[in-house]
Amino acid sequence: MPPWETCLQKLQEHISADAFDSTIRPLQAQPVQGGIKLYAPNRYIRDAVKREYLPLIVEFLAELGGDSLIQDLEIEVGKPSEARPRGPKPSLQGGNGKSRGPGGLDPAYTFENFVEGESNRFAKVAAQQVADNPGRNNNPLLFHGSVGLGKTHLMQAIGNLIQSRNSDVRIVYCHCQVFLESMVEAVRLGGGAMQQFARRYQSADALLVDDIQFIAGATQTQKEFLKIFNRLWDGGRQIVVTCDRYPRFVKGLEGSLKSRLSGGLHVQIKPPGKAMRVAILKSKAESRGVTLSEEVAGYIATVANANVRELDGALQSVIGQAHFIGDDVTLELAQDALRHLVGGPGRIINIGEILRTVADHYDVKAAEILSKRRYRHLVRSRHVAMYLVKELTNRSYSDIGKEFGGSHHTTVKSACAKIEGLIQTDPELDEEIRSLVSDLKR
Ligand code: ADP
Ligand code: MG
Repeated sequence: MPPWETCLQKLQEHISADAFDSTIRPLQAQPVQGGIKLYAPNRYIRDAVKREYLPLIVEFLAELGGDSLIQDLEIEVGKPSEARPRGPKPSLQGGNGKSRGPGGLDPAYTFENFVEGESNRFAKVAAQQVADNPGRNNNPLLFHGSVGLGKTHLMQAIGNLIQSRNSDVRIVYCHCQVFLESMVEAVRLGGGAMQQFARRYQSADALLVDDIQFIAGATQTQKEFLKIFNRLWDGGRQIVVTCDRYPRFVKGLEGSLKSRLSGGLHVQIKPPGKAMRVAILKSKAESRGVTLSEEVAGYIATVANANVRELDGALQSVIGQAHFIGDDVTLELAQDALRHLVGGPGRIINIGEILRTVADHYDVKAAEILSKRRYRHLVRSRHVAMYLVKELTNRSYSDIGKEFGGSHHTTVKSACAKIEGLIQTDPELDEEIRSLVSDLKR
């Protein structure tokens, strides 16, 4: 794998997904004699990378290729093929970057390689319907959910499918951060720049706007976006938007925009449960020509449990390590490659820690959770504890039953299913479980 690709993977593991998407992902790398040159689509991104991430990039590249890779490391505004030393022209993401297709779409995001499961089934169906009939029903289509769960993937799969059926359709994908920055730049430039900016979006047959939460607080930009939105919508053009939460809960988003966004179909994408994480791992490994054993897939799904992005990063580390040392993907190798995720060699969260954390949270005693008493609050904490043990450790249902005072494995299974079901319908419990998981992983 080229050093920049490997460096990207490492960056992805070390910085927040939002920061990665908005500043690192838009970079393009070009090998130059003895090293690498990086290109940013605009000066905001270049400056942010220089300010925040250059030391990390240098560190990772130095690890990969010795000093030669970083000797002449530069970040310029422009594109690899036709580098402009200073690029005052607003560079709109998705322009025609080398790895992207027309309209800023990444051809790697398809429906075929999107693994379906309980947590995203409805979102996938909605996306397919919109791709089949753009601009008809479900306009706008809104995906919401936290980072790394496949919102961008599905949104771009819609664009790719529409484009593959009709190359004349003009699809415009843009990340909202870039929309914001490009507009600021257009205002700064004055003259016809603003019209040019608006025209690019208004001429879309389908507009895909990613991470709309990024324009919260930017009143002018929201006004401009709303104008573009209304114009497209009136013209029967499809709009797809993603957001990290339901727009009503985004502070700093104008009421009029919130109501427009909620006026079509909105679908939440939830974090995948363990069985689905295993399915995703197997499918992704398969597409890279690697077969994962049940044991290894189970281990990776256990330690990388936050979202699909983390799962993917973990799988890449494991496969990368196997290639590097020329070995098969064994459990030992996976444990070694993922040491950074578990905080020690092969350490995964144990039942004792889970019990203590759940007991603290519900203000009960660990012994009570393990008992057979059936007070309501005890039953809930017991079910949550069982669910967390299943999600965060490698224990089987019958193992867990034994730990929980000799419960039958079907009891454990139904407790887990119950919590999994409730998470889908009860946002409070969903939040509670997430905060327990993050406490446990700390
Ligand atoms: P989001 O936009 O919600 O933050 P992304 O769409 O960027 O998440 O997904 C993060 C990574 O996980 C991407 O590489 C994406 O392809 C992958 N991914 C997410 N969900 C799935 C899925 N259900 N099947 C296959 N890959 C997925
Ligand atoms: Mg995204």
